Amino acid sequence: MRLGAHCGSFTAVRPLLAVRPFSAARRRPAVRSLLALRSFPAVGPLLAVRPLFAALLAVGAIVVVWPAEAEAAVTKRLAIVMIQNGDTDGERAQLADPGYIAGVFFGPGNSLRTWMGAVTHGQLSYVPAGIGIYQVQPNDELRNGDRSRCHADAAKDTAEDFMATTGVSWDALAVVFDTGSCPWAGLGQMPGRVTWYPPRPSLSAIVHEMGHNQGYPHQPKKDCAGGSMAACRPSGYSGNTPMGSGGAGRGYSSVELLHSQWIERTLASKPGTFSLKPLYSTGGGTRALEYRTGGPLSYVIELRAAVSGVDSSIRTPGVRVYAVTGGDYKNAYMVNPTPAGSTITDTANKITIKVKSATSSGATVAIEAIGAGQASSKTSANPAASSTPEEPTPSADAGEPPDEDDFLPNLADAPQVPKRSFGWVYVVAGIGFALASFGMWYGKPRKGRHRAPGPVGFSRRS
Ligand SMILES: [Zn+2]
Repeated sequence: MRLGAHCGSFTAVRPLLAVRPFSAARRRPAVRSLLALRSFPAVGPLLAVRPLFAALLAVGAIVVVWPAEAEAAVTKRLAIVMIQNGDTDGERAQLADPGYIAGVFFGPGNSLRTWMGAVTHGQLSYVPAGIGIYQVQPNDELRNGDRSRCHADAAKDTAEDFMATTGVSWDALAVVFDTGSCPWAGLGQMPGRVTWYPPRPSLSAIVHEMGHNQGYPHQPKKDCAGGSMAACRPSGYSGNTPMGSGGAGRGYSSVELLHSQWIERTLASKPGTFSLKPLYSTGGGTRALEYRTGGPLSYVIELRAAVSGVDSSIRTPGVRVYAVTGGDYKNAYMVNPTPAGSTITDTANKITIKVKSATSSGATVAIEAIGAGQASSKTSANPAASSTPEEPTPSADAGEPPDEDDFLPNLADAPQVPKRSFGWVYVVAGIGFALASFGMWYGKPRKGRHRAPGPVGFSRRS
């Protein structure tokens, strides 16, 4: 067994990188953290209405609401365990390159640290747990396991057991290893504390899996013909958040920020005309508007534009509308399309939502009441809605430095989201970002003991 040896450092003041011996002798019961990971964050009940101001715009009364208790900024200690189980020279070289991992997780450029700080406005930070990055040997199950199968659980055990030997406390654990036959390019507990990656994960993959840890599922969209909410049909993913395969060039969407209580919203329940600021802008104004219909359905409306280092891949500012049922923000779907000039018609709730203007500095949205007799004409008054949306599919403008992946596939054609139960919590493999890793990782021919890809086809370009 090798003794610990520093093989590099990430900052001038604290070494992050070290080779540490792995001891398989401290296996812990697999169920020990079962209960701790079981519950989803409760959101709705935690919210209380506090009128900051009540303004009348047209006939719409609005209030600004935010979490009942001001959310203290959360700092998560992240341990990244690089398991040295590469089968090929390339895999071994990547797994012996903690410098890459240090950069993409904690670096001063495009990294998890900078991305999450900007997206949450400082409300969630990741810092190294101990030295932050650990290189360890695989446990016997991972080392000797059948290579035609995915051994994510053995990798997790390897990492957790190793961290137990260090005595270092952690709040989040990233397991980096030769994923072999695992049919994914990333994996995350939803919600939870553990994520899994191949040796060189992209930032898109990382913020996607960390989103799963926050409890976010993949974000779908529905195409609503003619803008009619009565004519919506599922149409892949939103392309508007890393959870909808928008990559790291986009922040999380307003509904995800609301789920995590990272943003206040303007709440309205009567028709009116509303002004929006870009979702990631600072300096006041409404960044998320929620309109409650009086029934279980509400609409959350946002303006997306590149600001403050977030949403950098958005080239055309645009309004997005989400349909939320019963306050379940994380399971909202995006209504498509909503270019400026378009109208969404909800005859059931007797309203229309008109996107009157949308620029990089602001948008104006009018919510108007309609009578039953007007509904049909309103519905047909938006012939442009079936054309290409202003801010359309993920593949259209998903470039995002430095993950110049050009990877976003047509997610509508992607296979169903694979969900694996690890006994107590869903683990969700990433889809949208998958090819981000493939360019550097899966794109190369697989050799050695690896066999054919698993049952989920998105893990290979072919
Ligand atoms: Zn995913």
